[in-house]
Amino acid sequence: MKVVVTRKIPGNGVKMLQDAGFEVTVGEQDGPMERSKLLETIKGADGVLGQLQDKVNEEYLTAVGSQLKIVANFAVGFDNFDLPALSSHNVIGTNTPDVLTEAVAEHAFALIMAITRRIVEAHKLALTQGSSFGPEVMLGMELKGKTLGVLGLGRIGSRVAEIGKAMGMNVIYYDVKQNPEFEQKVGAEFKATPDELLSASDIVSVHVPLLDSTRHLINADRLKMMKPTSYLINTSRGPVVDEVALVEALKNKTIAGAALDVGETEPKWAPGLVDLDNVVLTPHIASATTEARSAMGELAAENIIEVLSGRPPKTPVKKS
Ligand code: NAD
Repeated sequence: MKVVVTRKIPGNGVKMLQDAGFEVTVGEQDGPMERSKLLETIKGADGVLGQLQDKVNEEYLTAVGSQLKIVANFAVGFDNFDLPALSSHNVIGTNTPDVLTEAVAEHAFALIMAITRRIVEAHKLALTQGSSFGPEVMLGMELKGKTLGVLGLGRIGSRVAEIGKAMGMNVIYYDVKQNPEFEQKVGAEFKATPDELLSASDIVSVHVPLLDSTRHLINADRLKMMKPTSYLINTSRGPVVDEVALVEALKNKTIAGAALDVGETEPKWAPGLVDLDNVVLTPHIASATTEARSAMGELAAENIIEVLSGRPPKTPVKKS
């Protein structure tokens, strides 16, 4: 059977597929595979190990052919999947939950610390001025005793909440599902609406999936509800935040700063964002640890091996 891996991945995933006896083709290009090349390359595959940038829709499924059994996403989010199209073609979609939770939660904290302690600004200053103590130079904000608002208390949001608690923060959260057990275990407080969370937080960290209901969840009105001294962190999906409204809020000091790993129209940031000092940006690398990325490839490969061997996948995607 034929498996296409649309982009080179770290770890043993490709070897696992080869060892299982599949004929494996791996995309060797630097960036995401260009659409017409992708549609050509996946033709005739029984399984595809694909990337978030590969839109799995009617066009894609028709191009592969009716022998296709599984598309294994190299990601936990699966907003690139057209779920009704997958089910009408009888194709299983899988993702990579859990194995990247720690990496993403730690990255959220790297961003929280980078923006509150002005690490990127300070790095630029250190390069131009050398290291020189100044009583009022680069004053930032301490985390201990501050309120961390977790928007979306799933796998990643829960871990961010735990790290925040370990750093002496008050943790509050909003999620469509309340989690009293977690509240007791970690000492987190549930807020009944996103608005209540936003107005009470010193730092808001976003961990919801991209759904119709979460697109522009953080919009101009909600940014105005945040404290002028507060920070917004987004490691979920870019379109959850109205990035144009965020640029305005950062320019007008409606909020103190933002740190983003994901953009609304990747790979481009909204006009003006990169010129601001009160911003820290990373290029969608929250899961980019050797540990997480290797495990993501291996879990995706396991899912393909299971399905092409006639067994159920380990981590099928589920509609929220
Ligand atoms: P998860 O499914 O465990 O958690 C998502 C949580 O969001 C759930 O608890 C769900 O109830 C909640 N939720 C859904 N709709 C909501 C709404 N309208 N308001 C509030 N809460 C809502 O997922 P996870 O593993 O924690 O991952 C979260 C998201 O992080 C993924 O969907 C993905 O988009 C993103 N992600 C990004 C990167 C990256 O590289 N930057 C890496 C991994 C995951």
